[in-house]
This record gives sequence, C-alpha cells and structure tokens, in this order.
Amino acid sequence: MGQILNANCRNCNFETDFNYGGGRFNYHENCPVPAINKETGYFENVNYITEKNNPLYLFYTDKQLKGDNGNNNVYQNFTLELNQTNNLCPNCKQYSFDFAINMFY
Ligand SMILES: [Zn+2]
Repeated sequence: MGQILNANCRNCNFETDFNYGGGRFNYHENCPVPAINKETGYFENVNYITEKNNPLYLFYTDKQLKGDNGNNNVYQNFTLELNQTNNLCPNCKQYSFDFAINMFY
C-alpha cells in the first residue's frame, strides 16, 4: 500500500510532501522512498527499486538519516521502515524532521 506523507521540520519549518511505497499493482517496479541527493543536498522522492544501490542517494529508510524515534510510529512498506519523528532535515541538518500520513493510495 502506497502512502502520501507530509514532511515537516520543527526547527526550520521546511515542509514537503512525498510518496512512500508502491501501490498494490506496481510495487515490483515502483517504490518511491524519500531520500537526500548527496550531490545537491536536496530532498528527493526516489524509486527504491531501481536506485537502492545508487551511491548518490541516502534513503530515509537508512539508519544514517534516523534520529531517536522514541515510542512513535514506524511506517512499514514490505522490508522498508521510516521513522515518524526526528529524521535528519535536508535543510537545517538537525534531527527534527517529522513525517505524517496524508493519505493512502
Ligand atoms: Zn530543518
């Protein structure tokens, strides 16, 4: 099940929406995951299926971009997990970037 999430930084107010996970019929080909482009430093919504081994991207499902999620939710999509709170903000580089579900598709 794919989801649309809203990302919001509590520190600098950087905000964006992104898609997470494939839909029921296309998850073998398309599985969008939020990532940081290491070259530009920008937040991108990248297809994990085709780009998971691309060294250009750090995915928010990787430990490196995760801070302390406490007892908050984990968004699971097959083997992938995203933390709800305290992810690394691409803008201010603090662990204050929170993800909230907008809708399922
Ligand atoms: Zn920020």
